[in-house]
Amino acid sequence: MLGHKDILKMGNPILRQVAEPFMLEEIKSSETQSLIKKMWKIMDEAGGIGLAAPQIAVSKQLAIIRLDESSDRYPGIESSPEYIMFNPIINYLTDETQGHWEGCLSVPGLRGFVERPSKIAINFTDENLESKILNLDGFLATVFQHEIDHLFGKLYIDRISNKELIMYEDEFLKINENL
Ligand code: ZN
Repeated sequence: MLGHKDILKMGNPILRQVAEPFMLEEIKSSETQSLIKKMWKIMDEAGGIGLAAPQIAVSKQLAIIRLDESSDRYPGIESSPEYIMFNPIINYLTDETQGHWEGCLSVPGLRGFVERPSKIAINFTDENLESKILNLDGFLATVFQHEIDHLFGKLYIDRISNKELIMYEDEFLKINENL
């Protein structure tokens, strides 16, 4: 079964590489289509809300995102459509930041509070070779920035300035239950 064991963890050098962009003709290939299917399976099995190809040792610029309101790992989030993005580029629309508690399947068991720009536009190519632009804010803007970071060798813990804002997941979920 595909799942956690297929996901690279912090310390693996592939997670620190800048991933290669896709050539357009590669996107429709059966190899890429089966990579996408495999990524959804691994993400769902691991209970994630996003996954980037480098997390499964494919150092290429592909990430998938789907927020699910019934997620155990992220209680209280709203569901989103499925997003499949190749070669994404972020444009920051504001200097204002927002903070969210983030987790990562490559950094299991931890949560950290990360401040990121609150409004962004993402340019990317989708699985049908269409160029897309998405304007995002709120938690979804954070999730996109987190996944795109993976394509450039960054992990969310790199972006935490106050180390007191790193927690073990069980402590985090305990606090959340009491809110
Ligand atoms: Zn991650």
